[in-house]
Amino acid sequence: KSIDNDTYYFTSYSNTSIHETMLRDTVRTAAYEEAILSNAESIFRGKTVLDIGCGTGVLSLFCAKAGAKKVIAVDNSDILNQAKEIVKLNGYDHVVTCVRGKIETLLSEGGLPLTDGETIDILVSEWMGYALFFETMLPSVMAARDALMTPVTGSMFPNVSKIFIEGVNDSERLNYWDNVHTLNMSPMKSRMVNELLQEAWVEVVDDKNVITNRKMLIEHNLNTCTDDELDFEAPFELHLRDEKSSAAHNVEVHQLVISFDIDFAVPGTNAVHFSTGCQTTSTHWKQTVLWFDPMHNCPVLGSDTVMKGVFRMERNKENHRAIDMAVKWETGHTGEDGSWVRKMDGVL
Ligand code: SAH
Repeated sequence: KSIDNDTYYFTSYSNTSIHETMLRDTVRTAAYEEAILSNAESIFRGKTVLDIGCGTGVLSLFCAKAGAKKVIAVDNSDILNQAKEIVKLNGYDHVVTCVRGKIETLLSEGGLPLTDGETIDILVSEWMGYALFFETMLPSVMAARDALMTPVTGSMFPNVSKIFIEGVNDSERLNYWDNVHTLNMSPMKSRMVNELLQEAWVEVVDDKNVITNRKMLIEHNLNTCTDDELDFEAPFELHLRDEKSSAAHNVEVHQLVISFDIDFAVPGTNAVHFSTGCQTTSTHWKQTVLWFDPMHNCPVLGSDTVMKGVFRMERNKENHRAIDMAVKWETGHTGEDGSWVRKMDGVL
């Protein structure tokens, strides 16, 4: 039985537990709440807001509380029935209008409650996926931005996203097999690694295993970014973060970890920020982990040995909601004459 990606995608959002998980993610939900409520006067009062992918209606209701004049809450999932009830129950049905539909269709067929030429001041949305772009919801939000957002003064909310990379040593996970209830199970290691190499993994990474700096790969200005900037290639350089410690010699990097940060930072307003990195309270996005092959070829860093690489992220050609990631890396150091001396290299 075949089911197209979009049907599968929107059906998954009719699942109550997804919405519960998102709402219970306090880092996420409280950041939106603070960003919206603390900017009631500087941004929201009297404004027209579009909430794309409203789910339970939570963000629309924050905007209504912050004094928005008109909020349009759009979702293509049947969760919209509850959003309607929730809006009414909380006494904001005179401000928030819930519309069921795919935003692209509503834009092209004129299904939004807007008069001719009416624009949107603030476009609020929680479109982020694993490693930021998994699910690829941002292009839908950008379509509404380009069609409806008030020129110059209008803004996406949040308005900035940043993707980061860092290096992790997970010896604990590998060495576990050396002594399992006193039994040597080391043949399990290469079996496990072969599986881990197959894909990217979404899991919470313990900051104590992070051994490098956290390097920003790319920043998107969400008010101006274009569709082709969502597939990107970015160079990076990682070095041990505790270069001074005696442990900082020849440390294996077992994983590259991808995470993202979000800013609500409209100039002249109260800026709010949240991070999905390993250094702060974990979110439902966790982190995204790419494994090296420690059995055959993984980078080794030392006090003067660093890793340089190029990271690529792009939408999968067959399934545009999936993303492909690739890394080309090498380790080495800067020689006496300032030139780069390569030690090891590989691809992920
Ligand atoms: N704003 C809510 C839900 C965020 S989840 C909250 O913060 O809790 C994203 C929601 O966007 C899902 O409910 C999904 O059904 C909806 N969505 C994704 N793409 C959409 C599109 N193109 N048109 C309309 N709704 C969309």
